[in-house]
Amino acid sequence: MKAPDFRYERPASLSEALALLAEEDATPIAGGQSLMPMMNFRMAAPALLVDLNGLADLAGITAADGWLTIGAMTRYAALEGSAQVMEGVPLMARALPHIAHPAIRTRGTLGGSLALADPAAEMPAVLLALGGEVVVEGPGGPRTIAADDWATGLYETARAPGELVTAIRVPLAAPGQRFGFHELARRHGDYALAGVCIAATGDAVRVAFFAISDRPVRAPGAEAALATGDIDAAVAALADLPIDGDLHAGPDTKRHLAGVALRRAWAEATS
Ligand SMILES: Cc1cc2nc3c(=O)[nH]c(=O)nc-3n(C[C@H](O)[C@H](O)[C@H](O)COP(=O)(O)OP(=O)(O)OC[C@H]3O[C@@H](n4cnc5c(N)ncnc54)[C@H](O)[C@@H]3O)c2cc1C
Repeated sequence: MKAPDFRYERPASLSEALALLAEEDATPIAGGQSLMPMMNFRMAAPALLVDLNGLADLAGITAADGWLTIGAMTRYAALEGSAQVMEGVPLMARALPHIAHPAIRTRGTLGGSLALADPAAEMPAVLLALGGEVVVEGPGGPRTIAADDWATGLYETARAPGELVTAIRVPLAAPGQRFGFHELARRHGDYALAGVCIAATGDAVRVAFFAISDRPVRAPGAEAALATGDIDAAVAALADLPIDGDLHAGPDTKRHLAGVALRRAWAEATS
């Protein structure tokens, strides 16, 4: 199938893009790696596509005050090739190769991933584990939303209609901070069946799972247990974590896979 008819605009500035997005049934398109298939399958039928690829200011990586600010239109491939990401945000660098395949990472954008909020996506969970932020801008100006408050449901976020994701902010790794990542998928590049990101500083541990709920979720019981280094107690604490099944696996299988992923990610973080 092919997409239904739509109007297409390619604004050259953020203000122009926001004005277009105020029109009825307007949708931004970034890398198009999720939106175009959805349109071709007629799961999405926007009247107006607002192409963000002309907004050069929305791409790029800058470091300041202990944070890395990544423009929403920055491609996964650019992040993979960035020394700033490799050195400053090793958890993100670790997770990036697990997103789909190189062709998709060449076009797909970090902002697109955060805006789409697929519960099985790696980057929203990375941001949650790191305690990052999403910057959005709409007619009312810019605002910053903590990663803990970003995903509000299945493919739903705190972004208001008419707002664009403009940047993602992540704290640079602190000296001695440790990270772990593991995902279980049927084949490398497939969406995860279950996955987890860990960021540990001293006895402060943040754990963010993906592909086990309608959104990326932290695991407070596991975090408390890992703060004392007790991985068995951390895995046991997953019994209290609400876990949803999906097309690929039921809740019990997901809970088991989440435990396996947690053990492997913790082994990586402590090795
Ligand atoms: C075969 C295949 C496998 C994949 N596997 C994975 C995987 O393993 N892990 C993973 O994380 N992803 C995976 N993806 C999805 C891929 O990462 C997408 O690129 C990504 O989810 C969306 O990024 P995009 O730039 O392509 O966004 P688009 O497809 O252009 O847009 C996605 C949605 O976000 C909105 N949007 C985009 N940018 C903005 C913005 N700046 N502000 C507000 N809204 C915006 C669009 O309106 C649309 O609703 C896969 C895709 C395919 C086709």
